[in-house]
Amino acid sequence: MTIERLVEPTAADDKEEERIEISLRPTTFSEYIGQEHLKNNLKLAIEAVKKRNDGSTLDHILLYGPPGLGKTTMAGVIAHELGASLRVTSGPAIERAGDLASILTNLKDGDILFIDEIHRLRRAVEEVLYSAMEDYKLDIVIGKGPAARSVRLDLPHFTVIGATTRTGSLAGPLRDRFGIIHRLEYYKEPEIEQIINRTAGILKTEIRPEATELLATRSRLTPRIANRIFKRVRDFADVNGDGIIDTKVAEDALSLMEIDELGLDPADRNMLRLMYENYGERPVGLTTIAALTGDEATTIEDFYEPYLLQMGLLARTPKGRVVTEKGRKHLQDKGNVI
Ligand code: ADP
Repeated sequence: MTIERLVEPTAADDKEEERIEISLRPTTFSEYIGQEHLKNNLKLAIEAVKKRNDGSTLDHILLYGPPGLGKTTMAGVIAHELGASLRVTSGPAIERAGDLASILTNLKDGDILFIDEIHRLRRAVEEVLYSAMEDYKLDIVIGKGPAARSVRLDLPHFTVIGATTRTGSLAGPLRDRFGIIHRLEYYKEPEIEQIINRTAGILKTEIRPEATELLATRSRLTPRIANRIFKRVRDFADVNGDGIIDTKVAEDALSLMEIDELGLDPADRNMLRLMYENYGERPVGLTTIAALTGDEATTIEDFYEPYLLQMGLLARTPKGRVVTEKGRKHLQDKGNVI
């Protein structure tokens, strides 16, 4: 069995997967589990817009935090709760200012434009977005050379919801255009349990409470990973048993996936091991870690590191990352170290 990394937000790889993923996506605030602080803030903002009923729109919203915590899902919930249409795109998908112009001119009043990975927008595109967000105007240049002239178009009153794994890489002027900026937090274990039970209900799979608890401890406190692990365990239960997920089935499936008690997979352990073997307790720079593991530095920063930091297995110092005592112990327990 090949294990694609569960932590990476790869798109669903086939139609069936995609269908399941869509069916699992909460569409209302009441279905969206956890992130209470964010939900309360957004509910208030939405209520206020509805109450004013004067054509004003929701403030632009920036959601940030590690992948898989529910940023895209939340954009869908907001659109649903507002009764607005949602248009989805991403920073890297908008190649030229003209692409953005065509997206913007096709929006209608009240629409929501979701831009995933907004920190990856090109500078020229970003600049067009500033004035569009600020005063719903679009400046475009028509023609070339001496005949070129600039025209200002009115745009519909829309709301941008931007999602990013890091606010740090967002240009200041862009960040300033967002009225609501919110960090999504890792979920608490009982919330992940609720998400697993909800998923089991939708997929009509029976799971014992102890098995739910076990899976919740292995899901990196992240709904996307909880759902992915759940689907694998469900396959395992179908093939090797009667389809019911109990502790034994869950344990066997997790050990087949090589996911340990802290939710780490072989790639996480490999990274910690390489760092520790080569540098011991000394700090290691991000590019060096990337060279050791053969990953992109951004992959390490976005996918591996946030959870390892959250769990206290890795620490960040001004000079680089260090494997903590807890990290070293964990590797040792797993027979990975020294
Ligand atoms: P992000 O955009 O932050 O990477 P997504 O919104 O794509 O994350 O969420 C990943 C998956 O996790 C979704 O398909 C959804 O099924 C599930 N999910 C996310 N947040 C929640 C939540 N609060 N409650 C239930 N399921 C959730």
